[in-house]
Amino acid sequence: MFDHEKLEKKGRLEVVCGPMFSGKSEELMRRLRRAKIAQQNVLTFKHSLDDRNGTQYIVSHDGKKVDALPIDDIENIFTLVQKTNADVIGIDEIQFFSKDIIAVICDLIEINKRVIVAGLDLDFRGSPFGCVPTLLAIADSITKLQAICIPCGRDAHFTQRLVNGEPAKYNDPTVLIGAQESYQARCRNCYSIDRKYSFSHGKTKNII
Ligand code: ADP
Ligand code: ZN
Repeated sequence: MFDHEKLEKKGRLEVVCGPMFSGKSEELMRRLRRAKIAQQNVLTFKHSLDDRNGTQYIVSHDGKKVDALPIDDIENIFTLVQKTNADVIGIDEIQFFSKDIIAVICDLIEINKRVIVAGLDLDFRGSPFGCVPTLLAIADSITKLQAICIPCGRDAHFTQRLVNGEPAKYNDPTVLIGAQESYQARCRNCYSIDRKYSFSHGKTKNII
């Protein structure tokens, strides 16, 4: 008979995704807070690029915050987890990390860590965001959150980028010098872009 006792225990991956303002950071913080209450050793990371509201915290859009270590070198995550003997690892804004984060997360699962990541599943162009689609495929559990659509009040799962109050163009650069830029949660009907990301014929391509 197969002896499960002889096997090392494996961890798990939980992915919390959705558009901006859908409560991903709040949900990540809620899970981490509960793990701390259960006296588990929790370590939280954020990408050092994300400097919204200070560098040592994850801050949600309604002002809640928890301590988080800013990371630019992905390999540091594994080293820090081993050094601190963390049981539960939280990573916010996972879409900012390169695809190399996937292997690190898989290694953490192998050594019995509970990994909880939160991030955008779609970018402002409506296309799947970096490492997130792969993490969704690997995940043990997925929570896809929705925000409230600002124009109509329905459930929103897109992030609308606005430049000077107008929908951004598909090919706009990430940073537009001198422009007033903002983001809104929007439903599929209210979301607007001049060019759609296409998933046709089994391979993804962009169409006009
Ligand atoms: P995310 O990490 O998904 O960007 P946060 O957890 O940082 O979201 O913030 C969620 C909070 O943002 C909500 O609890 C609410 O207070 C606020 N919020 C602002 N705009 C919206 C919106 N359009 N829909 C829902 N919540 C919103
Ligand atoms: Zn809408």
